[in-house]
Amino acid sequence: MPIPARSLAPAFLALSLLAIPAFAADGPAQKARPGGKAPAARPFLGEDSTKAAPTEDEAMTDADGNPLPKTLAEWKARLTAEQFQIARLKGTERAFTGKYWKTMTKGTYRCICCGEPLFTSKDKFVSECGWPAFSAPIDKQADGKVAETPDFSFGMRRVEVTCRKCGAHLGHVFNDGPPPTGIRYCINSASIELDEAFDPDTAEKSEKEKGTEKKAGE
Ligand SMILES: [Zn+2]
Repeated sequence: MPIPARSLAPAFLALSLLAIPAFAADGPAQKARPGGKAPAARPFLGEDSTKAAPTEDEAMTDADGNPLPKTLAEWKARLTAEQFQIARLKGTERAFTGKYWKTMTKGTYRCICCGEPLFTSKDKFVSECGWPAFSAPIDKQADGKVAETPDFSFGMRRVEVTCRKCGAHLGHVFNDGPPPTGIRYCINSASIELDEAFDPDTAEKSEKEKGTEKKAGE
């Protein structure tokens, strides 16, 4: 996604200059993830500073309008031990153990912490990696509902993906996915929840119908 130079804040520009060279080259620093082959690091695409940050109200309530926790202790009380360890403490579930790694049921995957719709079954594919894999986030933007941040932990160069609304750790994104995007969002099952009632096909059809009605009324 092209980012107009004028939209880049100086502070972020400085970060980009530091971060991009490290991501541009493939090198021996990459290590195999548990149970998988060495991932190809995807270039950090950068924060879209033109996107407005969520308002305080949006950031503080979940999909049902309930207040979101503000502290780790509050999150711990709200989530299961596994969800808390992965979504709030950046843990990783063991490969082939999560409940969604090979699920192809139609629906929308919401953030386990705040309920925000993040991925849909339309973009899901079964990956040999053992975690739920998606070719794109629900809004098809590299920095939309899913935020991307360079992650140098464990001696690896990766791009962490988090829920933009509540900051929940979701997983990482790699550039070894299938066509057409070539992108693999490698997500922990514990960080997401499948909402079968939220059908991405129906939602798209509704938008098209709205457009047709608008045209007919013109
Ligand atoms: Zn969230």
